Amino acid sequence: MNDIAHNLAQVRDKISAAASSCGRAPEEVTLLAVSKTKPASALAEAIAAGQRAFGENYVQEGVDKILHFRESGVAGLEWHFIGPLQSNKSRLVAEHFDWCHTVDRLKIASRLSEQRPAEMPPLNVLIQVNISDETSKSGIPLSELDALADQVATLPGLRLRGLMAIPAPESDYQRQFAVARQMAVAFDALKARYPGVDTLSLGMTDDMAAAIAAGSTMVRIGTAIFGARDYTKTKEL
Ligand SMILES: *Cc1c(COP(=O)(O)O)cnc(C)c1O
Repeated sequence: MNDIAHNLAQVRDKISAAASSCGRAPEEVTLLAVSKTKPASALAEAIAAGQRAFGENYVQEGVDKILHFRESGVAGLEWHFIGPLQSNKSRLVAEHFDWCHTVDRLKIASRLSEQRPAEMPPLNVLIQVNISDETSKSGIPLSELDALADQVATLPGLRLRGLMAIPAPESDYQRQFAVARQMAVAFDALKARYPGVDTLSLGMTDDMAAAIAAGSTMVRIGTAIFGARDYTKTKEL
């Protein structure tokens, strides 16, 4: 077994253990493999080990990988855009990705909806909530969630699937859990208003267990699968 296959197996075991220990079924939690800065060869190892859903942060890098695997004839992959999105890059996301986790304003949502090609299914979107990091510019406060959700839900090119958050780094489990619970409460309220809502994207390598205990349905894991990232190297495929 290569390193990536081995790491993936370990992460899947941790997800199962975290789910079981709070009475949830492991299948309720989707593993998103965050492959930013990693070459296509690393993703290919993960694919060979059964991984299908990948998260990318940089639009062009993600599109290059999507096209690479499409041209290689690999079917059944699911591509999630999880990075900050500027208006001038929205078209590439709308035309290539299956999901966007970082919708945080109507302008971006409207552009993604308009730019989604008619022959593709609606783009799955999550609204990003700024749950704990007041200094970050990404995400909306919870107080603005209902208004934005109501607007996003009317856009024909999008399908509102839920919420995403990147909590401020925190090493204490109880504090990780408290923040994650705030997100889970907002998620449950949104689900009650919109039956199509089914996804809470929450939990990274360091807070995965607390996020799952609180109710996350999708964890985004990079380092624990692919190893540390090297941002100095050029991004080759
Ligand atoms: C990089 C990234 C991750 C993965 O982080 P790791 O600590 O490597 O697991 C998850 N979510 C987002 C939004 C990211 O940018």
